[in-house]
Amino acid sequence: MTSPASGGAGRVIDSHCHLQSLTVSQRQAALEEARSRGVTGFLIPALRLEEAEEILDLCHHQTDVWCALGVHPHEASSWSGGHRSRLSELLADPKVVAVGECGLDFHYNLSDRQSQMLALREQWEVALEHGLPVVVHNRESNEEMWELLQEPGFDGLEGDFHSFAAGLELATYLIGRGFYLGFSGMVTFERAQNVREVLPHIPRDRILVETDTPYLAPVPYRGKPNRPAYVIEVARCVAGELELGYEDFCQVSTRNFYRLFPKAA
Ligand SMILES: [Zn+2]
Repeated sequence: MTSPASGGAGRVIDSHCHLQSLTVSQRQAALEEARSRGVTGFLIPALRLEEAEEILDLCHHQTDVWCALGVHPHEASSWSGGHRSRLSELLADPKVVAVGECGLDFHYNLSDRQSQMLALREQWEVALEHGLPVVVHNRESNEEMWELLQEPGFDGLEGDFHSFAAGLELATYLIGRGFYLGFSGMVTFERAQNVREVLPHIPRDRILVETDTPYLAPVPYRGKPNRPAYVIEVARCVAGELELGYEDFCQVSTRNFYRLFPKAA
């Protein structure tokens, strides 16, 4: 285990960082910087299955890096039966701890809505077949997400609604269903009161923290490329909102990560 850096940094996990979007040398530097500050684990969510080999190669060379494999809603129009069987094969790898990043994005609509719904539904089915959790992206699609979750076929689905910003009503429903909520750098943005106000109302044992590297850098790095080391700023902000000490929060969220993603434990 990497020892915590000076300054009393706790041990914290970045539950969502797209390291595959960095160059190879940037990835190594980003991992080393984060480890030196006490970040003890990293989950890379795929955006498309064509990245799987590269992501797995990275995971196989780093004991503290795992991945989710799947197809992002932006890429959903490429989803096919071939993707479904390829995904099922890939899930056998010990480094693949979840299916994702899957979901709906009706803000950008980079894939048509029908394709997004189909790709999401099939990825959830694959996750259930393999007993794995899902990493879910949800933007401007609360209603459709809610309806899909209520289908009896998806009872028992578990996962992380990453970079959660969807309000208390959906948060409460998801917690009741056994899901976890991932908080990103958004929680530090001055105007994101709506993201912060959910926190005191949800159980601490369902909270994860993430950077969503290279997007959404937290204050005071806002506007710069994000890095996994900055998960510390996210964790400090969330701990403050929960009125928990930073070290205590890090312990709780690290336990949460291994409970949700037991293949990483
Ligand atoms: Zn993401």
